Amino acid sequence: MSEKIFVTKATMPDMEEYFEEVKELWDTHWITNMGPKHDALEKELSEYLGIEKDNIALFVNGHQALECIIEAFELGTEKNDKGELKDEVITTPFTFVSTTNAIVRKGLKPVFCDIKEDDYTIDETKIESLITDRTCAIIPVHVYGNVCNVEEIDRIAKKYNLKVIYDAAHAFGVKKDGDSCAHFGDASIYSFHATKVFNTIEGGAVVFNDKDLKRTLNNWKNFGITDPEHVEYIGGNAKMNEFAAAMGICNLRHVNDGIEKRKEIHDKYIERLSGIEGLILSGVENFESNYAYFPIRLEEKAKLSRDELFGELENNEIYARKYFYPITSQYDCYRGMFDPTLTPIALKMAEQIMTLPIYPDLKLEDVDRICDIICSKLK
Ligand SMILES: *Cc1c(COP(=O)(O)O)cnc(C)c1O
Repeated sequence: MSEKIFVTKATMPDMEEYFEEVKELWDTHWITNMGPKHDALEKELSEYLGIEKDNIALFVNGHQALECIIEAFELGTEKNDKGELKDEVITTPFTFVSTTNAIVRKGLKPVFCDIKEDDYTIDETKIESLITDRTCAIIPVHVYGNVCNVEEIDRIAKKYNLKVIYDAAHAFGVKKDGDSCAHFGDASIYSFHATKVFNTIEGGAVVFNDKDLKRTLNNWKNFGITDPEHVEYIGGNAKMNEFAAAMGICNLRHVNDGIEKRKEIHDKYIERLSGIEGLILSGVENFESNYAYFPIRLEEKAKLSRDELFGELENNEIYARKYFYPITSQYDCYRGMFDPTLTPIALKMAEQIMTLPIYPDLKLEDVDRICDIICSKLK
């Protein structure tokens, strides 16, 4: 009996390497509050991402990173000529629930824009018609690490004076025309969750253009404390601890090897699954991918539906993921607030798509086994 295969598996360094990295914490007892590991990881990440150390702030997770940058930009506090709050944010519902929750939890209104059928990112041609005199920002998502049309989004944002925050949780290490994703928009957030290409167990970061934001973000993530007797912001607590930062320091040493292994798996899937009627593979690639996910889509004309193929894989103890299903505007907590039919492409994609297992340790024999099952059902 072959082993169960899950959609992903957290990357971990050798035990010895990690112990070596955390050993000194038993001498210093400085285990959180932006200690030396936190500082070192910030520096190494800024080098990896091709930015300066003053343009990145680490967080306890990607979600808090997003909430904090929304706070730091004071989105939703400005008023328009009519005296109304500018609290609308253009975003997409084809994402992990975190993106939508962060917007709503910060008192803002998501205005859902549809996505494109070829790469599942926001359809930039539909953004302008959604802008009103209450719009304050655009929060697009580099879904599966597919880079949004950043040039066009930039043009629109400048024209209407809107902030752009990219949810780049999937896009660690992705480059476009040699340029790291960290350079796009006013800011981007990364997630370093266990399931992502690079992890700090739980963790995240904001990267941003304006260096003054570093101090503000560091304050927001530490209760708003600016010095022992002063609290300038009504901040929360979202600091990355030293054990997480140490995990990041170790994992970062191996992340390029991991991406290389993911590419082999990706290429194998492409080789084995190309040309099957009704099966659409991982989208356009006009950028350097991190191979974080391997989405496949089953059109109506495919022999099986997405749910049927998902079930067949499950019967063989292969656990793909319906990522993303449902779209965020359909979740129970948002019932009655949004009309999911206004984003018909997102709605349709969510019915047809799933992501196949991909992680550096996944054996090519196992990829073959997955492909054998898919081929036997769809050909
Ligand atoms: C993982 C993820 C997040 C949240 O990141 P955490 O680090 O888990 O808080 C946000 N957005 C997207 C698209 C994600 O995939």
